[in-house]
Amino acid sequence: MSDFDQELNRRLDAIRVAGLFRELRRVDSPQAPHLRLNGRPLLNFSSNDYLGLANDPALKTAAIEAVERAGAGSGASRLVCGSLAPHHELEEALAAFKGAEAALAFSSGYAAAVGTICALVDQDDVIVLDKLAHACIVDAARLCGAKLRVFAHNDLNDLEQILRWADSRHSEAAAGRRSRTLVVTESVFSMDGDHAPLRELADLKDRFGAWLMVDEAHATGLFGAHRRGLAEACGVGDRIEIQMGTLGKALGAAGGFISGPRVLTDYLVNRARTFIFSTAPVPAAAAAGAAAVRFVQSGAGQERLALLWRHQAEVARTLSGLLPDRFSHQSPIFPILIGDELEAVRVADDLRGQGIFIPAIRFPTVARGAARLRLTITAAHTETDIVQLAAALRSVRIPHSASRTPPSPPRHA
Ligand SMILES: *Cc1c(COP(=O)(O)O)cnc(C)c1O
Repeated sequence: MSDFDQELNRRLDAIRVAGLFRELRRVDSPQAPHLRLNGRPLLNFSSNDYLGLANDPALKTAAIEAVERAGAGSGASRLVCGSLAPHHELEEALAAFKGAEAALAFSSGYAAAVGTICALVDQDDVIVLDKLAHACIVDAARLCGAKLRVFAHNDLNDLEQILRWADSRHSEAAAGRRSRTLVVTESVFSMDGDHAPLRELADLKDRFGAWLMVDEAHATGLFGAHRRGLAEACGVGDRIEIQMGTLGKALGAAGGFISGPRVLTDYLVNRARTFIFSTAPVPAAAAAGAAAVRFVQSGAGQERLALLWRHQAEVARTLSGLLPDRFSHQSPIFPILIGDELEAVRVADDLRGQGIFIPAIRFPTVARGAARLRLTITAAHTETDIVQLAAALRSVRIPHSASRTPPSPPRHA
């Protein structure tokens, strides 16, 4: 074995010993509640396809038509000759959906976060993140070079202290460009399913003249009168400087986007490196995303969402006793906290033995010792699926985590 292979084997062994080894599971069916996973049929409670759109005829037809009309590939980056009609149609649909002046599509939510954050702040600035913010936000915060501070999850007092510190730092700074503070949070948290206090966050950032960026990855298409996200539901859609979403979750397609004033998207076209230096998304992805945006705004979309919330309420009843105390957020994401990594894997294996797939989520996706089963429910599940879930959960031993405390008090239940 070469020295290189030996070194990597040593590193992988350390990962295995810690109960953190991960590997790919091949899926031989479209995204749906019933999957063929590693050759076995399983009832799936792990997907972010909350509205069951990933395999929906409306999205598939739009993608196929886009391939026929615009081709399989985009040929170049958007700024060279890859800014195809489906990208512009998607951005117009997104802007109208979000009630914003403009929207800009990226190849993924990850790329949207990294490109946008690094375009907006640099070493003269301060970036402040919620402790549980997604990896793409953490990576962007490190890469942008701004002074990085983290506030305790959903803790407004902690954030206020940091903003006060940032304020004093800015006023001491030498003349030149005014230094800025950017606060970044998720709206519905991806691994805990709880909600950020967006109204209070907006009040706080206004008081300190900071900017606020909200990642609506798990809320786009699900919350608010127009399904724009949690910001709309909290009545602060027009007070947040940067709103981010992805097309890969409830919208069933792929890609990320930023919506806001035209001056923001014009600026990002000029400064967001993940947008500038990357081949434009394929036409099929853009067209599927646009079809999903149309779907969620339709009557059929509204019915689909109502079905999701009915299933969600049923699962919440089924899981009572397994969820964090006082957990009452409306969210398709349920965290069954277990704590120990190896125990979480054991429980997930036992459930798989019962034909149920709920993945064990471990470090580095969540903190060490905060391993959990992350259960998600979708509109595409049936009542029978939920009955089967309940039976499987009764038949496996699920240790009660010492830390099965709520990630935060419920705010927008
Ligand atoms: C999934 C996710 C992203 C990344 O979006 P992709 O389109 O999958 O790259 C960003 N933020 C959060 C909170 C997410 O859950």
